[in-house]
Amino acid sequence: MLKVNNITKYYGDFKAVDNLSFNVNKGEIFGLLGVNGAGKTTTFRMIMNLISPTSGNITFNGKKIDYDTTDKIGFLTEERSLLTKLTVKEQMLFYGALKSLDEKTILKRLDILLKRFDIEEYKERKISTLSKGNQQKVQFISAIINEPKLLILDEPFSGLDPINIELFKSVILELKEKGTSIIFSSHRMDHVELFCEKLVILVKGKSVLEGYLKDIKKDYKIKKIKIEGDVNISDLKKVKGVINVIKTASSYEVNIKDETYAKDVFEYLKTRKNITKFILEEPSLEEIFIAKVGEAYGE
Ligand code: ATP
Repeated sequence: MLKVNNITKYYGDFKAVDNLSFNVNKGEIFGLLGVNGAGKTTTFRMIMNLISPTSGNITFNGKKIDYDTTDKIGFLTEERSLLTKLTVKEQMLFYGALKSLDEKTILKRLDILLKRFDIEEYKERKISTLSKGNQQKVQFISAIINEPKLLILDEPFSGLDPINIELFKSVILELKEKGTSIIFSSHRMDHVELFCEKLVILVKGKSVLEGYLKDIKKDYKIKKIKIEGDVNISDLKKVKGVINVIKTASSYEVNIKDETYAKDVFEYLKTRKNITKFILEEPSLEEIFIAKVGEAYGE
């Protein structure tokens, strides 16, 4: 299990990460979320022992993270960092050796992974001649060639088409099933929502929301009612508990203070003739993210 305990990181006088704590269990997918500059990459670098926290500590399976431990960690960095003059095979032999693997093991795993990612024919090709998406696959393979116990994925889907996003997702879920702990960062909340059981949202290096996604959704009081049909927006806005009404292409979305006000909206809808559908929904992670980040900036 990964334990991040009260880590703070200063760059000079600037506090990039502020007293952050979280745990990631075996086989769990954890989302580290935040707007640009929130401190995600700094946190990943501290976990990988590339930089040290100013205070606090990080352990993996009870041990401080050292070179032995990083052999068992995979890191897909946000900046793509392939050795593009090498062939795919040469790159993998180099990366695998850095993770203390012998050549036979690397080549055996590489054949399996190239097949899984459907790029077997590129094994002897120079990386510079591959498309962006295929380079991304090679980079992902580099991150998992050591069969990591902990895998850090910084924006793993950037630049991928929808078919390859599906492929990456299924590989990530297979790794989770095998017990790999995964930390994942993305600006795409719909991806996070599909994957992460647990998450933290950072604002200026500080956690503003953390926990299991299902609890976060349950605890977030504001709910949404989607309505299809003919409503009068200004009347609807006057109903008790209604915060706002948004008109979308095919429906209306009504945000209410909490679930108990749903009945007031439903009462209003009974007075209208042409309502074809209405439904009470949980807020999306994107809505919660925007609200929480906005609140923190407003402080
Ligand atoms: P993004 O989503 O844009 O990748 P991030 O959440 O990964 O952002 P970090 O790269 O961790 O954010 O940066 C956090 C803050 O620390 C930013 O304000 C950044 O400018 C600052 N920072 C990062 N690295 C350094 C450094 N080496 N020296 C000084 N400041 C730094």
